[in-house]
Amino acid sequence: MQMRRFLAFCMVMSLTLALTFPSAAAKNPHAETDWRKQVFKNVEMLTGLPWYYLAAMDQYERNLQKVRRDLPRKKGWLAIHIPAESWAGVINPDQEDNMEVSIHYFGGIGRDGNGDGKANRHDPVDVLYTVARFLSQLGTDEDAIRTGLWRYYHQPIAVDTITHIAKIFAKFDTLKLDAHVFPIPLQYNYTYHSTWGDRRGWGGLRIHEGTDIFANYGTPVLSTCYGYIELMGWNKYGGWRLGIRDVYNNYHYYAHLNGFRKKLKQGDIVKPGDVVGYVGSSGYGPPGTSGKFPPHLHYGLYKFNGRTIYSFDPYPHLKAWERQTRKQLREMKQKMKQKMKRKKRQ
Ligand SMILES: [Zn+2]
Repeated sequence: MQMRRFLAFCMVMSLTLALTFPSAAAKNPHAETDWRKQVFKNVEMLTGLPWYYLAAMDQYERNLQKVRRDLPRKKGWLAIHIPAESWAGVINPDQEDNMEVSIHYFGGIGRDGNGDGKANRHDPVDVLYTVARFLSQLGTDEDAIRTGLWRYYHQPIAVDTITHIAKIFAKFDTLKLDAHVFPIPLQYNYTYHSTWGDRRGWGGLRIHEGTDIFANYGTPVLSTCYGYIELMGWNKYGGWRLGIRDVYNNYHYYAHLNGFRKKLKQGDIVKPGDVVGYVGSSGYGPPGTSGKFPPHLHYGLYKFNGRTIYSFDPYPHLKAWERQTRKQLREMKQKMKQKMKRKKRQ
């Protein structure tokens, strides 16, 4: 108990220091995410719940608020929103109750995390502490936390998505994972046009949910993002296909591959530019069917809004990533040239 009080004290102190911080955020765009991560780590110290699960849950709710109008928007630096009836208890006559004793009496989950004697559902530290204690009820290993997530959301996609986002955060030890590259190395031959929404004949009337990038057999296919390999295998439409989840609510779907990168497996974590497979023409039949159309990469993008999954047009994103990748290559070449010049002079 003594130890716990001491830790609580340390946390409150570091949070008080941290809360004076945001003035510096204007100077450095990454400062806010660095600081958010530090708060998650402080709550981990206090509750044992790994910081990246808190970060993933926050990111998941942040993502949903961007695509849903009916959800309350985040007001401060934390996106996690606990509804009043969960916080205070459904049958609690005072839905803004902030007394831990009566909240628990009515079956609410609200807790006091910052030690001010009030369990305030509008205080981000109280919210994080509440969530951390709720998710770690059965323990802090993956299965226990997944059970906690299920009890909180009652939504299987939420449980999987948050677990996978957590793994990406844990692997790279940062919340800044917004870099992207074009899925085909730019030095290879390729062409693509905007074809999202076109009608497709094979397998009944479907619309085309993606962009086709035409390239030669065996051209390397790259991960466009930091992500988690959620799906790998055969499908009669997509042939050998692959699905990568990133932390910003995008599911990247790659189809008609010739094959996958050796040793790549479901559950692996990738970064932008990692080879994941090779261009082919697989699909439109039983496993192994190939050559029914010219080789190309079918690239699709999907989002989840908490209820359904929907496709959106990848073309503008591909254009932007192609430009960014070209610029990065140019800058790299320039740096190399300058280095060579300096060497010559020496
Ligand atoms: Zn396609």
